[in-house]
Amino acid sequence: MAVIQSSIYSRPATPESPDMKRRPRLTMMRPRIATIDTRAVKPPPKQASPIYHTTEYECWREGVITRAGGRCEWPGCDRVERRMFADHIKEIADGGALYDAANGQCLCGKHHTIKTNAERAKRHGLVPPTLGARAAAHPRGRG
Ligand SMILES: [Zn+2]
Repeated sequence: MAVIQSSIYSRPATPESPDMKRRPRLTMMRPRIATIDTRAVKPPPKQASPIYHTTEYECWREGVITRAGGRCEWPGCDRVERRMFADHIKEIADGGALYDAANGQCLCGKHHTIKTNAERAKRHGLVPPTLGARAAAHPRGRG
């Protein structure tokens, strides 16, 4: 079996460097530029609700994604990605029905993030005008 080694990401272990045998061959470099958090309002730390680990939730999720044929239901998107999101149209935090298929829509990652951030901003009393207008144009209704 042939093994191809990438010269810039790994160095072959040689008899002269026995410690190389114990090290991983692919290592990550530290970022040289730190990220800047420019959010005006920082949401509380994320904690996955135990709801997302239930069989009922998994059935609801599969049903929503299957009904959409695995395609994003955001108007004009129709994207299919490896990971699709079953989104609560009226969010659970806003009193949306947890396992009601009518309260679910299949979204791609981009549109799930847009929708979730807009809903969160609305909940905190901050609606960015552009996201708010785009979100209001959604045909399946908003929470
Ligand atoms: Zn989409």
